[in-house]
Amino acid sequence: MLAPDGEGSRRLGVMGGTFDPIHHGHLVAASEVAHHFKLDEVVFVPTGRPWQKARRKVSAAEDRYLMTVIATASNPRFSVSRVDLDRPGPTYTIDTLRDIRRIYGPETEIYFITGADALAQILSWRNADELFDIAHFVGCTRPGHKLRDPGLPEGKVSLIEIPALAISSSECRQRVAAGEPIWYLVPDGIVQYINKRGLYREPS
Ligand code: ATP
Ligand code: MG
Repeated sequence: MLAPDGEGSRRLGVMGGTFDPIHHGHLVAASEVAHHFKLDEVVFVPTGRPWQKARRKVSAAEDRYLMTVIATASNPRFSVSRVDLDRPGPTYTIDTLRDIRRIYGPETEIYFITGADALAQILSWRNADELFDIAHFVGCTRPGHKLRDPGLPEGKVSLIEIPALAISSSECRQRVAAGEPIWYLVPDGIVQYINKRGLYREPS
């Protein structure tokens, strides 16, 4: 939880994701956004059942949760929340944000961190207006990609360029299935956890 530092409101980053597995792209994005927006903490929130990924078989929630804990354990400003794992049914961002606001209190400023492509879909999300009432949205993009304002509400959305990390969880899974290394794409503990649990050996 946030260490109260007396002055001003606390600033909290919320990084939702399937984290199947968590990789250095996620960690660098969280670190960059935390630096840029002077966040006190970033909470990683592994999704329960992501409604966008209904067709793909997602790894067990506990495996994704533990990998997220392992990857973030060494950073005192990173934490992991179970809100989406403990809520039954598919995960919607509005529920995540409502739960986080309830836990951290209404005076906490929330920055929801997401990929720029996911951000472009925000307007199609359920309860878009309430989302913008609860949180500021930060869309991460890679160098070379054009930063395009997808016509989102003024002052409620920022785009930030993350150092070149063309890493995705899909590619990590495909590499494991093909017997290729994922060292240095993910933290060492994640390579070891994937091996220990035998994750991703079957092509998805
Ligand atoms: P998949 O390949 O299965 O879609 P992913 O790598 O996109 O997985 P998610 O768990 O879906 O990982 O991503 C969580 C959030 O992190 C998303 O908002 C996504 O856009 C963002 N993200 C993923 N990879 C990167 C990266 N390399 N740099 C910055 N942000 C990223
Ligand atoms: Mg993705």
